[in-house]
Amino acid sequence: SCKDQHYRYALYQPELNKHSVMRLSLMSELKGALVAGQLQLYYQPKLAIADNKITTAECLIRWIHPQHGFIAPDDFIPLAEQTGAIRHVTHWALNTACMQLKNWQSQNITLSLAVNISAMDLVDMQLPAYIAKLLSKYDLAADLLTLEVTESAVMGNPENALKALHTLRSMGVILSIDDFGTGFSSMAQLKKMPVHELKIDKAFVLDLANNKDDQIMVKTLVSLAQNLSLQTVAEGVEDLATLEFLQSINCTKAQGYYLSKALPAAQFETWYHNFHRV
Ligand code: C2E
Ligand code: CA
Ligand code: CA
Ligand code: CA
Repeated sequence: SCKDQHYRYALYQPELNKHSVMRLSLMSELKGALVAGQLQLYYQPKLAIADNKITTAECLIRWIHPQHGFIAPDDFIPLAEQTGAIRHVTHWALNTACMQLKNWQSQNITLSLAVNISAMDLVDMQLPAYIAKLLSKYDLAADLLTLEVTESAVMGNPENALKALHTLRSMGVILSIDDFGTGFSSMAQLKKMPVHELKIDKAFVLDLANNKDDQIMVKTLVSLAQNLSLQTVAEGVEDLATLEFLQSINCTKAQGYYLSKALPAAQFETWYHNFHRV
């Protein structure tokens, strides 16, 4: 079950970041890689803390390249954003997530899914229509789909981004602010964002059990969210003490290695059934 981690250590090549020839060739391969099935979605569960149930999962992309091996999303998503190829990645991820939701429905697995959306996708004014088309194609309720959007994605082009977010919200799609706390948006900007959920960045969570400052920070963020009637998700939960702290402050959901890393669909299903059995 540590296959993913193993790939990271064995095959991670930091020079991918440095060599522009390599970067360019990777980007020219990306569309073909999507078609060839080299990119896969892995699923990381999110725990509804009060009910101790897995109700949803985040889709995290993995590129298993025939020559370079495992390429981490942080090594190609930023490049795809620069070249504009992100649009294809996002469409593929949304389509794959909807197919997976349909598949789980047929197995009576009641889960929703979250897909990561980039800054560039938010200024693509066709995104809401694309999502509407997918939901109707697969006959899925809009609230089965969450979009995770970073604060900085919205700040890049606030007018268009906010317009897209309002359209998506009115369609019934769930909206989450990813990496919350690491951006520079003000309270005034937060107020304008039509979101349902704040996702607290793992930078505040990883050492939560031991770090008093992080505890104050997370407690304050959760209470801010509650006062704005927003749900909260803490990512990067790696131990029981952290989960218990989150429970004590009424954080809504927890995600992290303490529960599970992101897994391919089949392994995720096994993990999910096992979690609810014990
Ligand atoms: P993110 O959206 O903030 O995702 C959280 C990252 O934290 C994931 O890394 C996840 O595997 C990792 N993580 C989860 N639990 C733990 C934990 O307990 N401890 C630690 N140390 N880390 C944990 P990953 O999968 O490498 O993804 C990195 C980033 O790549 C994501 O950050 C997201 O910004 C981007 N990304 C991934 N998939 C997609 C995608 O389909 N589309 C877009 N646009 N971006 C994606
Ligand atoms: Ca995310
Ligand atoms: Ca994050
Ligand atoms: Ca991130």
